[in-house]
Amino acid sequence: MNDLLRQLSDEIEDYSENVAGIKLVPQVDLEEIKSYLSQNYSFETPIDLMELSADVSRVMRSWSLHAGHPNYFGLFVPGTKTASVIADALVALYNPQLGTWLHSPVSTEIERHTLKFLLKKFGYDPNSSWGNFTSGGTEANLSAMLTALTDRFPEYCDGGVRALKRRPLIYVSEEAHHSFIKIGQVTGLGHNAVRNVPSDENFRLDISELKRMVESDIREGLEPFMVVGTAGTTSAGVIDPLIDIAKFCRERSFWFHCDAAWGGAAVMSPQLAGALKGIEQSDSITCDAHKWFSVSMSAGMFFCRHPQAVSKTFQANAAYMPESQQGQVDSFKNTLQCSRRFIGLKLFMTLAELGEKGYAAMIEKQAELGEFLRLELIEKGFEILNQTPLPVVCFTHQALIETGLSTREVLSELYSKREFWISDTRLKNKIPALRACISSFRTNKEAVRKLVRALQLIVSKKASVNRI
Ligand SMILES: *Cc1c(COP(=O)(O)O)cnc(C)c1O
Repeated sequence: MNDLLRQLSDEIEDYSENVAGIKLVPQVDLEEIKSYLSQNYSFETPIDLMELSADVSRVMRSWSLHAGHPNYFGLFVPGTKTASVIADALVALYNPQLGTWLHSPVSTEIERHTLKFLLKKFGYDPNSSWGNFTSGGTEANLSAMLTALTDRFPEYCDGGVRALKRRPLIYVSEEAHHSFIKIGQVTGLGHNAVRNVPSDENFRLDISELKRMVESDIREGLEPFMVVGTAGTTSAGVIDPLIDIAKFCRERSFWFHCDAAWGGAAVMSPQLAGALKGIEQSDSITCDAHKWFSVSMSAGMFFCRHPQAVSKTFQANAAYMPESQQGQVDSFKNTLQCSRRFIGLKLFMTLAELGEKGYAAMIEKQAELGEFLRLELIEKGFEILNQTPLPVVCFTHQALIETGLSTREVLSELYSKREFWISDTRLKNKIPALRACISSFRTNKEAVRKLVRALQLIVSKKASVNRI
């Protein structure tokens, strides 16, 4: 056991400290991995755990994309703080079942304590609001939609969609996360019940389009009941006009859900929190700890101002589950999950280790690097396509437009060097953009400068070839 743990602790220390020295982009094909696994793991003979653990570490190093690398400017996958790694190990060891309070008194209360801290940050009353951890933003968005449906359509709970007299509709911007399309299907409302509101020139939900669509749908006899404002869109990192959406929802008695899966972490920073103004007026919020809070996957959060509506949505009685007492929260009666992992420990421990100010500093540094990246790109002749105080930069280059060079060609050239990773997207589903997000807390100015230099080289080389 000692040797095994020493090997593991060396691994954790070495990876955390030296990830910058690892090739960021793996070079491996599918067949190589499949044949490695079938040759080495037929499960016929038992393998010594130390040898096994060393082998798994080795293949994960060689054949993974390393999101914790300072040169990863990727999707919202963070580098993870050591507190989060330790927390996950402790959770696996003690394996508390958070479905019922009696199985996990302290774990449940650690989660409630952490969630209350964030409820307050978001401007909700922590004593009269609900919060729970989820598998991610998708489950949190689903929880919001189920709760809103149950609250606004009492017949939905027992009778399902068949009991509804009119067709409920929800409104999201065309830049909203794709989970809402899945949720349309899962809730039984169907894909078409999720209305895509066009976005404005900065890719934010266009409030006048929203009003126009709602009016027209009501005239058709349909029943709008919910609007989603995204705080930090997945493509462009922009924040929808939350204050205007809140006002419109209040006038109409619609449910206002704020999807702050990535951008919600900005509440930790006194400098950045103002950008989320309006979120405090929402009925519910999605926020992922496994994105900008830099804890390991998976850790989402769902917050709601209406705890009774949440209990009604997820009510369940099961004779085989232990009885809890007054004040003890049984998560299985208030959330989608039954067997429930202690998801919140990694956020609790990271928050406790860094302290509130340390967390704010980490987030602010990433936002500042986003600004630095914007300036570097402009200086090197790139064109910035989005505006946001959050660190996602969408950009293009005149040479791409003129020569018809695609973003995918730029990316494949970049990946072939194995040193940097950025992604691409299409804004409004049509405008091609390269996309770089400061997603690792290890990223620094030097990494940003080198990325821009690498991109500049690719664009000028490719563009001159394409012109010929
Ligand atoms: C990532 C994301 C989601 C989905 O969250 P998962 O944790 O991946 O399920 C939802 N909304 C937004 C805005 C996101 O960025």
